Amino acid sequence: MAHYLSPFFLDVKKPLTAELAERCPAGRGGFAKHANSLESWATRRRPACVRFFGVDSQHSSKRIAVIPGDGIGQEVIPQALNVIRATGAAVEFTEFDWGADRYLRDGTTVPPDGFAMLARDFDAIFAGAFGDPRVKTNIHAKEILLGMRFQMDLYANVRPVRLLDSALCPLKNVEPKDVDFVVIRENTEGVYGDLGGVFKKGTPDEIATQEDINTRKGVERIIRYAFEYCHRHTKQDGSPRRSVLMCDKSNAMTHAGGLWQRAFKEVAVEFPKITTQHMYVDALCMQVVRDPRQFDVVVTNNMFGDIITDLAAALQGGLGMAASGNIHPGRTSMFEPVHGSAPPIAGKNLANPFGAILTAAMMLAHLGLTSESEKIEAVVLEAVRQKKGTQDIGGTLGTREAGQWVTERVCL
Ligand code: ATP
Repeated sequence: MAHYLSPFFLDVKKPLTAELAERCPAGRGGFAKHANSLESWATRRRPACVRFFGVDSQHSSKRIAVIPGDGIGQEVIPQALNVIRATGAAVEFTEFDWGADRYLRDGTTVPPDGFAMLARDFDAIFAGAFGDPRVKTNIHAKEILLGMRFQMDLYANVRPVRLLDSALCPLKNVEPKDVDFVVIRENTEGVYGDLGGVFKKGTPDEIATQEDINTRKGVERIIRYAFEYCHRHTKQDGSPRRSVLMCDKSNAMTHAGGLWQRAFKEVAVEFPKITTQHMYVDALCMQVVRDPRQFDVVVTNNMFGDIITDLAAALQGGLGMAASGNIHPGRTSMFEPVHGSAPPIAGKNLANPFGAILTAAMMLAHLGLTSESEKIEAVVLEAVRQKKGTQDIGGTLGTREAGQWVTERVCL
């Protein structure tokens, strides 16, 4: 376990220039090169520098567990951490090496008591991505990621779908105001519990079953979460959110669908000012592409939420732009970009860090650090507009350079 914060404490006895050169989160090379010219600036701006390095954290600091994980998670998470530090947010980072490398080294996926420790000792968890071609079973990813979701009961997967700039959307004549909805995905049940089995494996009579778990408690609480989210949140332009749409496939999956339908109608009664809608998942996929303006808050099960949000990410500029939170109100929650570990582009400085950076903003907002969160979002928006991003969103920068561009402007 390495502590992120401690290396960034400023040593007050050292010349500030040396501190800047050695410890600048925007890249040692970046500030070291300009260290001399920075000396007088830094001396005058010492309080701001202290803020820059995120070292003014006192007892009220939010404690964040960082798990970069595998593949591009290891590239995008450090960029997002630099951006958080640059806001001066009162946070402390503690990094964990859970992921494929650790699993291949000593067989550990999650250390004993790992989830209890996260829940006990941290205010939030910031995770990258899990999955590595060297681990064919993907067991570590399952135990770490699904373990956090299931064992910490992070039942609401909140995935905002927001278009920052028209140029990022593959649809014609669609502006940022037209794509501003949120998908609330049930995160602890459905087909992801891996219940089922295989009978007569490898024979022509083989039977495979995959159970779809839907509990009254699980369905009702995610639907209520969606209504409460709608009630409490506004759209980007400040206008109120007004409608909750429940998405299922109740015409074919009648038993589970019936429970979702009944729970939706019952919970809706508690929120008379919120409009309700319903769509089958196939129709919803078509409508998301045909006219995304009609969506506000969408609530759905684990699998449909997974699929819909990959589709919806395409409206935002791709997987590299999408943020998410795994939330249980009142408990330690976990924040991760929507994308996975993307092995084909890992280690090449190609991954878009903005999904992770926007996820960091989402986490800070959740922790009550609203102005820091808004600052980050504003700078990412500016980066997208100025094409200071990676190739997947029409830019020319690498992962590190795009992250650094945002870090330096957040600091201003
Ligand atoms: P998982 O199932 O683990 O969520 P996935 O199958 O959805 O993963 P990803 O690993 O997210 O797949 O990536 C699929 C492809 O999307 C990548 O190979 C890459 O081309 C693209 N991609 C994903 N994330 C990014 C990113 N941050 N920047 C650029 N491209 C990305």
